[in-house]
Parts: sequence; C-alpha cells; structure tokens
Amino acid sequence: QAGAFDDLLEGLNPQQREAVEYRGPALLIVAGAGSGKTRVLTHRIASLLRTREAWPSQILAITFTNKAAGEMRERVEQLIGDSARGMWISTFHSACVRILRREADQFGFTKAFTIYDSGDSRALIKRLVKEHEADALGLTPASVQSKISKLKNELADADSYARDANMNDPVERMFTDLFRAYQRQLQKANAFDFDDLIAQTVYLFRAFPQVADVYRKRFRHILVDEYQDTNHAQYALIHELTRPVSSSTDVGGGMLALMDEAEGASLTVVGDSDQSIYAFRGADIRNITEFERDYPGAKVVLLEQNYRSTQNILTAANSVIRNNFDRKDKRLWSDQGDGEKVIGFTGYSQHDEAQFVADEIEQLRRQGVDYGQMAVFYRTNSQSRALEEIFIRAAVPYKIMGGTKFYERQEIKDALAYLVTVANPADEMALRRIINKPRRGIGDVSVETISSFAERNGITFRDALGHSAELGFGPKIQGAIAQLHNVLVEAQEILLPSNGEIPPPTSVAEGLQVLLNKTGYMDALRASRDPQDEARIENLDELVAVTREFARNNPDGTVLDFLTTVALVADSDDLDDASGSVSLMTLHTAKGLEFDTVFLTGVEEDLIPHRISANEPGGPQEERRLFYVGITRARKRLYMSLAMTRAQFGEVSAAMPSRFLQEIPADLIHWRQSPGDVNGRGGSQSRALNARRPGGSDRWGVKPLGPSSSLKPKSTAMDKFPGLVTNKVRDNGDLELAAGDRIRHDDFGEGRVDAVTGEGAKRIAHVRFDTAGPKKLLIKIAPIAKL
Ligand code: ATP
Ligand code: MG
Repeated sequence: QAGAFDDLLEGLNPQQREAVEYRGPALLIVAGAGSGKTRVLTHRIASLLRTREAWPSQILAITFTNKAAGEMRERVEQLIGDSARGMWISTFHSACVRILRREADQFGFTKAFTIYDSGDSRALIKRLVKEHEADALGLTPASVQSKISKLKNELADADSYARDANMNDPVERMFTDLFRAYQRQLQKANAFDFDDLIAQTVYLFRAFPQVADVYRKRFRHILVDEYQDTNHAQYALIHELTRPVSSSTDVGGGMLALMDEAEGASLTVVGDSDQSIYAFRGADIRNITEFERDYPGAKVVLLEQNYRSTQNILTAANSVIRNNFDRKDKRLWSDQGDGEKVIGFTGYSQHDEAQFVADEIEQLRRQGVDYGQMAVFYRTNSQSRALEEIFIRAAVPYKIMGGTKFYERQEIKDALAYLVTVANPADEMALRRIINKPRRGIGDVSVETISSFAERNGITFRDALGHSAELGFGPKIQGAIAQLHNVLVEAQEILLPSNGEIPPPTSVAEGLQVLLNKTGYMDALRASRDPQDEARIENLDELVAVTREFARNNPDGTVLDFLTTVALVADSDDLDDASGSVSLMTLHTAKGLEFDTVFLTGVEEDLIPHRISANEPGGPQEERRLFYVGITRARKRLYMSLAMTRAQFGEVSAAMPSRFLQEIPADLIHWRQSPGDVNGRGGSQSRALNARRPGGSDRWGVKPLGPSSSLKPKSTAMDKFPGLVTNKVRDNGDLELAAGDRIRHDDFGEGRVDAVTGEGAKRIAHVRFDTAGPKKLLIKIAPIAKL
C-alpha cells in the first residue's frame, strides 16, 4: 500500500508527510506562512482517495475563497487523475448554500431562495430603519447591519438577544424590533443573507438531527484551510458535522457503517494564528488555540520550513510579527538563499507612488517577468483608484481582485433583480427594485397601492401584478403593469417552463435578454445621453457573456445555479482568468495567495495600521498580522512604497511612514530615493524629495512603540529613510497664497495659482504650471516660493 502513495509523499518534508499520512479523528496543523499547509491538505485528500480510504463524495474540504477551492480541486485531480468528482471543495458559504438548497423546505423556505449580499441587506435594513423611525434613536442602517451580522456570527438571534439585553433601554428595544422585522422580511422574501447561510444551516442541523445525520454519514473526512479565520458559527457548523451520527437505529448501512459513524468524521484543520485577520468579522482565534481542548487526543503537527520566499523576505516578515505579544514564536526558515533586498520607495503623492509601481512593473516585464506573477496590495479599496489611473495611462494590464465591483454596479444589480423576480417570485425587494426601471410611471404611491391590494387579497406582490385591471389605476399605469407582468411571464416560461421541461443551459442568457429588451430597459439606456449609460450597456453585454460562459461550464445549470454562483462571487474571486495581468487587491484578499513580485503600497500610518483600528482593542496587532500576510505573499521580490501626501475623503494631508517600517532591520531594505535611480528618469525628483520632508522627527519620525519597542532592531529601515531625519526640513509655515499669484516650484517650474482650498496645515494650492500642467500642492510642505 505504501507504493500507492509514494509519489504523493515525494517532495514533502518529514513533518508534512506525517500530516499527510496520519489517520485519526482530529489533526491540527499549525505553521507559519508558506510552510505548505494548503499543500499538505491537498496531498492528504489525494492520499485518502488514492488508498480508497474514502470516496470522493465522503470528502468535504473548506477553503477561504472560491478561487482557492478551484485551485485545490485542480491540484487533487492532477495528483490522482480525473476521479475526484463528487468531492465537495468549497467555501463555507457555498457548502451551506448547497445544503440549504436541498433542505430549505424543511423549515419554511423553498429551494428557490435568494441570497442577499451586503448591499441587499443594507437596502432592506434602511427601509426598516425608516419605517420604525429608528434614526431618531441614533440607529443608522450601517450600525444595525453590522450588529446583526456580529450577532449572527455568534449564533444569536433576536430572541436570545432580547433575553440578554436591557429592554428598558429604548435603543436596545428598537434594535430588537428591527432585528425581528429584518428576519421576518427575509423569511417572507424566501431569502438568506450571507451570515444566515451559515447560521441557518447550524440551526437546521440542531433542530433536525435526522437532517444533520444525512451529512454526518456522508462526510467522513472534513478538512478546513485558514482555520484561524473561522468565526463561532463556522466553528459550530464543523462541530455539528463531526459529531457522531445521532440516530444509530436507522442507519441501514449495516453494522460496519454503524461502528464507523459512531465515531464521527475525521477532522483536519490548518491555520496560522499570525495570519488571523478577520476578527472584525467575528473570527475567533480561540478556535485554533483551543482545538486540542475541543477535540481531545488531537494530533498536532508543526511545520517550520518556508518554501515560498527568500530569506530576506522571511526575515522582514519575522521581524515585524515578533512585535506582537501573546504569540508563540515560530522559527520559520527558508533554504532559498537571501535573495534581493526589499525595495523601498517614497513618492511625493499617491500618483507619484503609483507611477513608480507602474515603471517597476514595466521594467520587470522587460526582464521577462509575467504580469500574472506580479501583485499590488493596498489596505483599503479606495487606494486602487490612483493606481488604476496610472496603470491605464501606462498601458499596464491589470485586474482588480475581490471587491468585485462589477456585481455592485447599478445596472448589473437591476438585471439580476429581474432574474430573481422570475426565479423567486416571493422576493419582493427584487421586484420593488425594478418595478419602475425603466421609468413606467409606477411611483412609490402606486407601489403601496399594489402592496395593499396584495395584502387585502392574501396574494404576493408579484401575483398582484397579474391583476392590473383591478388595482384601480388609470390606463397608463395599468398598461405599464400589464406589460411588465407579460414580460415576466414570458421570461419565466424560458427560465422555468411551466410544463416542467428542463430548459437548455442557454436559457439564462435568453431569459436575461428578454427581460432587458422587452421591458425597455436597454432602450432607455440607448436613448440616454448620459455617457455613463454607454458603459452600462457594455456591462450588461458583459453580463450576458457571463451567462453564456456559465452555460458552457455548467451544462445542467439553471437560473438558480447561475444566481447562486453570482451571489457567491466573493472576495478575491473573479469569473475571469487573471493571468496576463497584474493583480490588484486589498491585503485581506491576498491571504493564501503567492506571487513572484509583490508591491505593498501605502505603507503609512493611518492606512496600515488603519486609522479605525487604532482605538479598537487588539486593533494594531491585527493590523500587524495583516502586514505580515502581505509580506509573506512574495516569493522573490518585495517592494514597500508610500506617499508623502495622500488625498483621501476629498482632502489632501501629509502622511507618515507606517510604524511597521521601523520594525524591519535597516540592512534589509534598499531605499530607492527616486524612480530616476532605476529608470533613468532624472534625479531632480530625489533632490526635491529630500528637501521636502516636513515637520521634524516627531512628525516624520516614528511614534514611540510601547511595550514591544525593546524588540526594535538597533538600526532600522527608518534610519535609511531618505532625508527623513538628517535632511533639513521644509516648512512653509503660513505662506500667504491666493488665486492669481504666480509661484515657482523646485520641480515643476513657474505657474499660476488657480485657487486655494482647505485650512491650516491642510491648505492646498491648485496650480496651473506653465509647462507641467495643473497640480495640487500641499502648501505647508511643497518646495514653492511666491514670485
Ligand atoms: P499560507 O500560510 O500563506 O496559506 P501555506 O502554509 O498554505 O501558506 P502553501 O501555499 O501550501 O503554504 O505552500 C507555499 C509554497 O511552497 C507553495 O508554492 C507550495 O507548492 C510550496 N511547497 C510547500 N511544501 C513544499 C515542499 N515540501 N517542497 C517544495 N515546495 C513546497
Ligand atoms: Mg495556505
């Protein structure tokens, strides 16, 4: 039998082998970044299948993103040949959707349920907050949404919340009412929000043990990647699934099955507590630290060799993460040699920084590095805009991963709402969304009329549309409603034929086109003179293309499958292939991925660590882990860049280097003072940079570190920070400037001030330079003089 998986063990170190070969009820693999945790999971699955210890259908593997799931499935199939069908490799959310689609009718939903993404549930909560006049008590839709989400991740519902809350407090009472109303509306709409997908599955398993048993019998091997980021609901789900089958009397599979199932599924989890970055979404690191208590007798395997990165990159990562207290020190090492130093760069503005990144990418590209092997990370989504602008100008092909803005666009949401209206007629919110899109003269008042007609007659809002003549409207509105109804019925016949026929996979594209064309939605866009509407038409064409691609990949796919796929396109997932373009993403999205070259941008205070984390308990530590995740994605080359000024929330302000830079030993970073150093772009900018450091070391130096400062290396990256402390500091003080003044700038030459905005240290001059064109300058620090 050993020979059966020799090749699966080849290329694994002894600890990794041990983890692949171990057979027992519970296995925990804890190890730092890049040590092969995900690889071990993959090989473990392959070995279970190869040795016939498990059928593919008995395996449930949970990954953090759909993309990671796809990669793992591919790898397993490569390892064992094409026999991995029936294996569930998916995210928590996808697995729960599959379970709920099968079981929803057990508890008051139907299989056709809709999935509300966070925008959908925000819209619903907004309506409820308004109806309840909850804003008078200071409850905003955002705060209500995040609190509900937190509670659901803890598996609390409105009732359990009400038991613990102080019901004499009007705010608490109002919140409870809102929570209840929200759940009622979801149920009425036959919909689950994202958190419900997991919480309701747990609820289902607890309330109906015989349903849970079906899955307990089925999944004999459960494997979870990135376990450090599971929240309580996810923990509970796994716990339910690994319990022994509860009703051993009706097993039916014979005695052997009975014995086996009496033990519960075997569970393998892998994780790294240094990479726990989802506490804000309820991730609970205790799930990993207390694993041995929850699963007594669990085997623990530690991995120490990093196979991903060069030693310089690893040392940088280690020197940052060791500043977190409350952690076990890990000794990660690499045998790949020191490699290149980390390259540092400081731009004058975020555009300057973006230009540097674009130039470096082009340079590397000329040296033969694939665009697909380069990634640019940032802390917040809004930072991508400056990068995108420069990349477009420089013709650097790029792809934004995660945040999947495409599906958040108005027109895409409208089109999907049309599909949902047909697929799940109970979803009133979807119907309300499109009832007057394009404009049909059905305003809020008419909507309420229809709604109360539906209520009076005990029918759904959707069905009320079929009674246009009885609603009491004038001929125009009546005609509009009748027409909408007819189109919906026509699309329904295409998507879900009433004769029970299974529609061909192309039906989704066809149905979508009927909905968009016959409702006049497309015509309205075509007739519009708003240039944005042209882009909207392109996006809708793209959506139709997506449905076609879906049809090719899912010959049996129905409109419900399509809507599920779209609803689950979560972080880091994209329907397109990202090869051939540079990947842009937030640090959160980067988890688990690896690239030859990584650019960490915006390495500034208030970005990383992020401003909002500063006052939260554990916030700065979580930010440090996030930074650590970013560093450890790089295989060969790592860049860290920042800007001296950054425009955010509509104002420009001076930025400070991140405190994390101070934690990296100086000899690990090579500071490129200016892009001129590498790309022959002249050195004037570097001189200017040196001249422009504002404010003295308390401003540009690094904040005192607190308890961990003893770990500060003797000389740190910040000491070599160009011009930081040693150079003369520029401070224009209260330089008087007004529109019409002429000035001279060290780099840009002479120009005329168009306007001055902002106040105090944040005053900005909008200058039209004679040759350099229009620029915005932070007056306090810009190298300028009035003429
Ligand atoms: P992360 O914590 O970032 O998720 P990880 O621990 O899951 O990292 P993997 O992604 O599994 O690490 O592995 C990192 C890289 O090292 C991958 O490219 C993987 O193929 C490679 N690798 C892992 N183990 C070995 C090995 N024994 N020999 C050669 N390469 C390996
Ligand atoms: Mg991994």
